[in-house]
Amino acid sequence: MYDILIIGGGPAGLTAAIYAARAGKTVAVLERETPGGQIVSAPLVENYPGILSISGAELAQKMTEQAKLLGAEFLFTEAAGLSKTQDGFLVSCADDALEAKTVILATGASHRKLGLSQEDTLTGCGISYCAVCDGAFYEGADVAVVGGGDTALQDALFLANTCRSVTLIHRRDTFRASAQLVRRAQAQENIRILRNCTVQKLLLSDDSLQGAELLNSKTGETERIYIEGLFVAVGQMPQSAPFQDAVATENGYYLAGEDTKTCLPGIFAAGDGRKKQVRQLTTAVSDGAAAALAACRLLDAQQGISE
Ligand SMILES: Cc1cc2nc3c(=O)[nH]c(=O)nc-3n(C[C@H](O)[C@H](O)[C@H](O)COP(=O)(O)OP(=O)(O)OC[C@H]3O[C@@H](n4cnc5c(N)ncnc54)[C@H](O)[C@@H]3O)c2cc1C
Repeated sequence: MYDILIIGGGPAGLTAAIYAARAGKTVAVLERETPGGQIVSAPLVENYPGILSISGAELAQKMTEQAKLLGAEFLFTEAAGLSKTQDGFLVSCADDALEAKTVILATGASHRKLGLSQEDTLTGCGISYCAVCDGAFYEGADVAVVGGGDTALQDALFLANTCRSVTLIHRRDTFRASAQLVRRAQAQENIRILRNCTVQKLLLSDDSLQGAELLNSKTGETERIYIEGLFVAVGQMPQSAPFQDAVATENGYYLAGEDTKTCLPGIFAAGDGRKKQVRQLTTAVSDGAAAALAACRLLDAQQGISE
């Protein structure tokens, strides 16, 4: 039986593994793909303190190496569920079940895509799902944001500070975003708002994004815009489905505070999968540290009681 079983080997899970292993606990990370999570698809990370510039894949590799060197075990399988046992928890996987005294849910989230041809190839070099992460790469450029919620409006306002122009493309007539954000975007000189519009096609030149073809659902007219960057802000999908019977969630996000404790004692939630405001590397690793240390404290307290 592991002291701490971490489900998800993204930045939150890897940080939890580093802290738990350094604290002398037996720890395993369950990962269904390659370790590193979302950051693996970031060509460049320039906002991780202490590192001027690094590819997401290299950063993930370094975090994984660090966790392995400290003694964390890696198991490449998908966790399918979680149940309470007398001594701890049972995590069911594709063809096995693992026992642990505590579990850290670090299953993250994935960004909703537009479903356009070439979208995947251009991700990280023309298409971005994170304005805070990639906005600086488009300083002085013409860009567009797709979406109508708070994130899309915030992204447009954030990008308008450094980009030459921002076209905000929204498929409906009215915005889901707060009225205040909409007013601020409307007042911003370099933001152009297009309602009832969807992106039909990405326009490429020499394999680089050059623009997008838009369809106005009201008029039926198409329009071409010329942009270097397209920021997609049409929502995130938390990867919590297998664990929603075990712990409380809201819109799929684990309900846990800064202490990462869920409603089920012994189960902690860390990273982008937790309900919170900011989903970034720094906040994911912060959660990972908090969850591992909280799990260690619980294990130490349990040991103290039984001794
Ligand atoms: C293209 C891109 C660029 C980005 N750039 C930056 C940047 O420059 N700076 C920045 O701060 N942030 C950036 N981010 C955001 C950052 O990557 C995330 O905030 C961070 O990765 C969240 O870490 P996490 O560990 O919580 O979740 P994730 O990274 O989502 O990792 C979760 C992991 O859990 C695994 N998993 C999920 N469910 C299961 C299961 N049932 N069983 C086993 N494994 C499971 C997944 O395979 C995944 O590996 C970027 C994101 C993207 C998509």
